[in-house]
Amino acid sequence: MSFILKMNHACRRTNALLSGSRLNAKICNRQVLVSRCLTTSNRRAPSPFAFVFDIDGVLLHESRPIPGATETLEFLQKEHIPFILLTNGGGKHETERVQELSKRLQVQLSTNNFIQSHTPFRQLASDLQNKNVLVTGSNAEKIRGIAKQYGFKNVITPADILRSYPDIWPFEPPLDFSSGRVLSQKDLKIDGIFVYNDPRDWAFDIQLIVDLLLSENGVLGTLSASNGRRDLPNNGWQLDGQPSIFFSNPDLYWSTAYHLPRFGQGAFQGALSGVWKQVTGGQELKCHIIGKPHHHTFEYAERVLNDHRTTMIGTSAGIGSLQTVYMVGDNPESDIRGANRYKSAHGTKWNSILVKTGVWDQERGNPTCVPDAIADNVSAAVKWAVERENWRSS
Ligand SMILES: [Mg+2]
Repeated sequence: MSFILKMNHACRRTNALLSGSRLNAKICNRQVLVSRCLTTSNRRAPSPFAFVFDIDGVLLHESRPIPGATETLEFLQKEHIPFILLTNGGGKHETERVQELSKRLQVQLSTNNFIQSHTPFRQLASDLQNKNVLVTGSNAEKIRGIAKQYGFKNVITPADILRSYPDIWPFEPPLDFSSGRVLSQKDLKIDGIFVYNDPRDWAFDIQLIVDLLLSENGVLGTLSASNGRRDLPNNGWQLDGQPSIFFSNPDLYWSTAYHLPRFGQGAFQGALSGVWKQVTGGQELKCHIIGKPHHHTFEYAERVLNDHRTTMIGTSAGIGSLQTVYMVGDNPESDIRGANRYKSAHGTKWNSILVKTGVWDQERGNPTCVPDAIADNVSAAVKWAVERENWRSS
């Protein structure tokens, strides 16, 4: 199975803003924006430029709208300027998350213009639908439901394994595994491992994943005879039919209610990679990582954005090509780095705008990846881009 190949086939299916505004201008006045927007026809072709917004730290902080976020999205909708939301977050199905976001932001959103970290996993369901996959995340039981909605049929959680084979973990049970399934022998061959969002029980999950990566043909409880053989490529590690492992989000940190950034899924990956090196005598963990800043997530996002532009007027005829995208994010390492290094196969130019409302703190120094612009907030970011495009309200 080629994940990259699957990703490449994925997703087929004031005037200008406010005159005289500056990059650090204050938050847009909602009433002014809405009154201007009301003159705009919804049948108007979408603009040749578009926006991609991160969510946490850009539109929301601790589940509450960041001032100006709602008005900014309303403005873009009225002006027929396309946008999508692209987050490294996850843990809920897209439908549930979009409903929640629409309510919180008081803006009608759709799954057509929403991508979360694990959305691209759905592209792998057809290859693995009749195979066993191990899933983990913040709430593995909920993740099981998402995976099934994506099309995976036999989804196994760490709790299922612990419930069926309690001796596999010699410490106090780390999980509430009351809802776990009882597994049979045939369930022990795992063909894919998916980390949907931030696992809670790192130690147990790392034990299970390493067990599978050491196994013969992915059968839990076995050991491959190839492990450590110096006459084989990669010294024999991960060469004997072990399951591929997929991570959805590389973020080491994320912004929370606490005053300092907290560890994200990237920290879990680091811990697993460190243990794997210890176990194998220094071997790198072979795995697939998607999510910002990785190329394939941006490629996926561009395709969703192009499809969304078509959906906005119901036809691709006369729509014109998407020329410019503005990625608005708060994380230099994911949002900004990803947009800066992404090269569109269709000639679309990507620009990055770093906002000050999230994980990046100006007082701790310059951003680790330099954006095309820095804005006080999402409203100022859009204002800067719309002026740059010489956009005029109709
Ligand atoms: Mg963010």
